[in-house]
Amino acid sequence: MKTNSEKELSARLLDEIRKSTAGREKPMRLMEVCGTHTVSIFRAGLRQLLPPEVELVSGPGCPVCVTPDGYMDEAIAYAGMEDVIVATFGDMLKVPGSASSLAEAAAQGGDVRIVYSPLDALTIAKENPDKKVVFLAVGFETTAPTAAAAVLTAERENVGNFFLLSAQKLVPPAIRALLADEDARIDGFILPGHVAVVTGSDAFSFLPAEYHLPGVVAGFSPTELLRGIYRLVRQVAAGEARIENEYKSVVRPEGNPAAQEMTARVYETCTAEWRGLGVIPDSGLDLREKYRRFDFGAVRPLSLPPVPPKKNGCRCGEVLQGKILPKECKLFGTACVPEHAAGPCMVSAEGVCAAWHKYGGGVFQYD
Ligand code: SF4
Repeated sequence: MKTNSEKELSARLLDEIRKSTAGREKPMRLMEVCGTHTVSIFRAGLRQLLPPEVELVSGPGCPVCVTPDGYMDEAIAYAGMEDVIVATFGDMLKVPGSASSLAEAAAQGGDVRIVYSPLDALTIAKENPDKKVVFLAVGFETTAPTAAAAVLTAERENVGNFFLLSAQKLVPPAIRALLADEDARIDGFILPGHVAVVTGSDAFSFLPAEYHLPGVVAGFSPTELLRGIYRLVRQVAAGEARIENEYKSVVRPEGNPAAQEMTARVYETCTAEWRGLGVIPDSGLDLREKYRRFDFGAVRPLSLPPVPPKKNGCRCGEVLQGKILPKECKLFGTACVPEHAAGPCMVSAEGVCAAWHKYGGGVFQYD
């Protein structure tokens, strides 16, 4: 519940944002690259409250959404194997692969189990020694240390039937890839609070240094977000570029060294494919040689047909690059709704299409 003082602060921040942007010829475009920010912004109705001179666009901040079809095809193929249990976060169940989904694989008899952490998957492995348990490790810097901890625990406890199928990704290389696109018109970034807890705010210092773009690490409440947007607006309006941290209660410039050490111990960076952004060097996390026996893709390689081009008209790729809004996809709200989604951005709870669908016409709500 928002207190009166928070309401007053929000009103003051909105007023300052209006003053800082009044009379601009072109709106400033600010991108958030965190699925939780996307949902928080919609939930609070911030888009409707901001002046027309400030446009918020969503970027590739939802890990489920950026996972490509090829990875889903592999997971679905493994789920169809007699001796395999696929353990996954619930969001992944309905994500369409080339021709099917994990939910369909489960309906056809595949053993697909929803878990809430990689350690749950490890427990399933211990309980089912005659099966190979494959955890779908999908996420960013925030969740990679937890999956790494599960691998280290499996090693320590000699659990030989626990594996990852890693599609873990790193946010800074994706931002660089976005900015390499000539059509990208982004004036500043609302930087991901959760990712920055691990990486530190310094991990984004390349934005001002190399692109003369500002970034603000923001928290998640409406007031925290507004404060972050206000700080960003002021920098853009003044032509300044630096990284500011408006989430100091949990984000430090250097991040969380213990989590970084855990990640570096278990993984090495690799080239990774992102839905919408394509193949980006050094943007993924693969298990190091020492832990390769926990990589199910290496232990049981598949030879699947190439992923065919999508024919259903889903434009998630463009949505994830901030090039179009969900409502510009002709399937939005008709052939694509959360109950029968045509693309991952409508499936995931953090997907921008799902947020538009749920809150798009949104009215400001204090939570
Ligand atoms: S509305 Fe549906 S089909 Fe269109 S881009 Fe979003 S997820 Fe894809």
